[in-house]
Order: sequence, then structure tokens, then C-alpha cells
Amino acid sequence: MNWIRRLQLPPERPVSLKSLDPDDDLGFKDRTEAESLLQTNLGRLEELQYRLFAEGRRSLLVILQAMDAAGKDGAIRKVFSAFNPQGCRVTPFKAPTAEELAHDFLWRIHRAAPAQGEVAVFNRSHYEDVLAVRVLGLAPKAVWSRRYEQINRFESLLMENGTTVVKLFLHISKDEQRQRLEARLEDPARRWKFSRADLEARRYWKNYQTAYEEVFRRCGPSAAPWYVIPANRKWVRNVAISSLLVQVLEELKIRMPEPRENLMGITRVE
Ligand code: ATP
Ligand code: MG
Repeated sequence: MNWIRRLQLPPERPVSLKSLDPDDDLGFKDRTEAESLLQTNLGRLEELQYRLFAEGRRSLLVILQAMDAAGKDGAIRKVFSAFNPQGCRVTPFKAPTAEELAHDFLWRIHRAAPAQGEVAVFNRSHYEDVLAVRVLGLAPKAVWSRRYEQINRFESLLMENGTTVVKLFLHISKDEQRQRLEARLEDPARRWKFSRADLEARRYWKNYQTAYEEVFRRCGPSAAPWYVIPANRKWVRNVAISSLLVQVLEELKIRMPEPRENLMGITRVE
């Protein structure tokens, strides 16, 4: 599907988020059509993860970044539920604890990286260390500006060890975010999700967009590219992420491993 390639940002070229449409419907006729493909994809993902696990040599890391209320949680619920929990681990990264702050910024990240055969999902990630940290001024520029290169080297290390790194930015408009945050305030079942920090991040919307554009420019070498997912419509977001993951896992061409020992002569089990 050629629209999947379209989501991938070209490496090391300036990217303007303004030029990417969060309302893009990716050419789907309607929601029903997209949801039927989503169902097919979920079945395929289950199968592909089973192979990855059986092979036990390579792994997949999916990094989810977005502004608040862009749907990271929803995407995890709808798409990653395809995977067997036995081989899939989701790690949310919140503001670092005192212990985490006493280490280098990748310390807490590295230990959550996937083992061979596993899928790991990062709900936020080391990119917060050049996003929130930069925008909110939580560290001096001399510290965060070195991190782009450190991140590239870290991701190269993972890739050289058999991890495929997929970086997703869920792209919503500022207006869509307002509607979603308002809906959270009004809905007793979702009110608990609302936080003052969301409003603060919203005030810095432009600064965050600029910080993201810098990330895309400096941390998007062709081996671990960024994908910008149009996310104003949840069904577009889900079908896009699932299609992309199917493609990425298919490209690994994972074959079922041979039995661990020679089974010649065994024909039945009493
Ligand atoms: P939700 O959609 O449920 O709100 P969330 O990912 O926004 O999920 P929160 O607990 O609301 O979760 O927010 C986590 C906060 O932690 C974010 O504001 C994020 O910027 C911040 N954060 C994460 N990593 C870092 C970091 N390394 N340094 C500073 N802040 C960080
Ligand atoms: Mg939040």
C-alpha cells in the first residue's frame, strides 16, 4: 500500500508539521472500509508476532509520541491488543523520578527495550528529553542539545542488535485537542484523565511543534524513520498504525524456526 510510505518522513530534511494534514483520511472510502482492514491487520499482527517470538532472535520497538489527548492510549488498546501479552510489553514514561534523574536520561529507557523475540511499546520515550525538557526548560540547552546525537547512537545500538525501531507521531490539530480535553472534563468516566499539565502543554503548543520538527530533522536517519500518523480521526489512526506494523513485520521475513533438536524417528506420542 503506497499510502504507508507517504507517512514516512524523509530523513534529515526540514519538516513542517503544518504541511501535514491531521484530518487526512488516507483515501479510505469510509470508516467501515477502514475498520474491516483493521480487523484483517489485527489477525495478521497476531500471526507475525507469533513468528517473531518463535524465532527468538529479533525484536520490535514501537515508540509512541504525541501531544496530550492525541490517542496514544487508544492506539495501544485497539492495535496492540492484537499481540499476545506474553511477548509484548508496554512501558509508559512519565516525568522522571529522583532515582531516574540521578542517572543518564537513557538509563530508564534501555532497561525497557525489547528482549529477543519481544515487542516493546513506549508510551512516550527518550524523546521527552528533547521535547518536554527543552520546551519547559527543565535542563540547560548545553545538556539537551547533545541528546539528539546520543539518541541516534542509542537507537543504532538497538538496531545493530536486531531490534527494529518504529517511531510514530500521532498528529492531531490544536482544535481537535481542545474538543477532546473538553470531552474529558465533561465525561465522569474520563474526568480522571484530565490534568492541569495538559493545559500547560497546550499553552506551549507552538514550542512543542517546533521541538518535534527538530526531532524529525535530527533523529530520523533512514534506518529508524519517523512516521506521522494523521490522528484527528481515531479510525484512520488505528488502520494506519496497524497497516504500518504489518508491513514492518512482514519485511522481516521471519520464518518458523526448525525444532531445537533432531526429531527424526519420532512419529507419534503415546
Ligand atoms: P494521558 O494521555 O493519560 O494524559 P500521558 O502520557 O500524557 O498520558 P501523563 O501522566 O499525563 O501521561 O503525563 C506524563 C508527563 O510526563 C508528560 O507531561 C510528559 O511530558 C512528562 N515526561 C515524560 N518524560 C519526561 C522527561 N524525561 N522529562 C520531563 N517530563 C517528562
Ligand atoms: Mg497527559
